[in-house]
Amino acid sequence: MAQRPVLLDGGMGSLLLAAGLERGRAPEWWNLERPERVESAHRGYVEAGSAIIEANTFGGSPPKLAAAGLAGRCREVNVRAVAIARRAAGNTALVAGDVGPTGLLLPPVGGASVDEMRQAFAEQVAALVAAGADLISIETMYDLREALAAVAAAREAGLAVLASMTFESRKRGYFTIMGDPLVPSLAALAEAGADAVGCNCSVTASVMLGMVREARAALALPIVAQPNAGQPRVTADGTVYEETPDAFARGVAALLEAGAGLVGGCCGTTPEFIAHSRSALAAPDAS
Ligand SMILES: [Zn+2]
Repeated sequence: MAQRPVLLDGGMGSLLLAAGLERGRAPEWWNLERPERVESAHRGYVEAGSAIIEANTFGGSPPKLAAAGLAGRCREVNVRAVAIARRAAGNTALVAGDVGPTGLLLPPVGGASVDEMRQAFAEQVAALVAAGADLISIETMYDLREALAAVAAAREAGLAVLASMTFESRKRGYFTIMGDPLVPSLAALAEAGADAVGCNCSVTASVMLGMVREARAALALPIVAQPNAGQPRVTADGTVYEETPDAFARGVAALLEAGAGLVGGCCGTTPEFIAHSRSALAAPDAS
């Protein structure tokens, strides 16, 4: 993984919305109700060249599922999701169990505890492992304490772990919305046992470039970068991302040049974006 750049996949939520998912309904419902549409979205990424695809389990922790009307169905949802992704991946891609925030909030914002989060992640990861996930991808974390709880759960299960947090650019540097700074946070995730660390969501590839440069300079392990498809614009029909697949692919090429080891897309990206990015990964000395 450290030797050669790896192409990840892109967004899932927007693809499922385009395929008819009701706005406001959790994408995880479709692992149960519309598995063929989830599989088709994955298939798009496999055909675009993704070496790792992420199962439709971003909101698959018990608290998040409960908030979506899927209380008590953590195992079922996660197991089905991995099976769907596996059908699309065949022998050409690895399947990552995708782990996003629980939706619980720690003090001083909320009253949840780190133990509660750890418990929730342990339950989700156990289901992903039982279903045969190849690795765990932790994403879109904005509270380092929660990200560490997720990494701990994944490490205990013995799978390789990618851990990404969501940072924004501020005057004094890059921080999550909770105020966690970029390099110390990623260093803490590495220390906790993540195999690759980085950033996803919220910003464009051009903003993420600065984040990758800082992370690359400070850390020895592979860096993950999954930017959005440009700046979101809110319209009557929902959120629109206006970057073209070509412009996105140029951004990905710059991220690779800055030393990112695993690249893909987040909100607004589709298989077309990943297919365009693929050429950026072609090693010049490949025979
Ligand atoms: Zn995103």
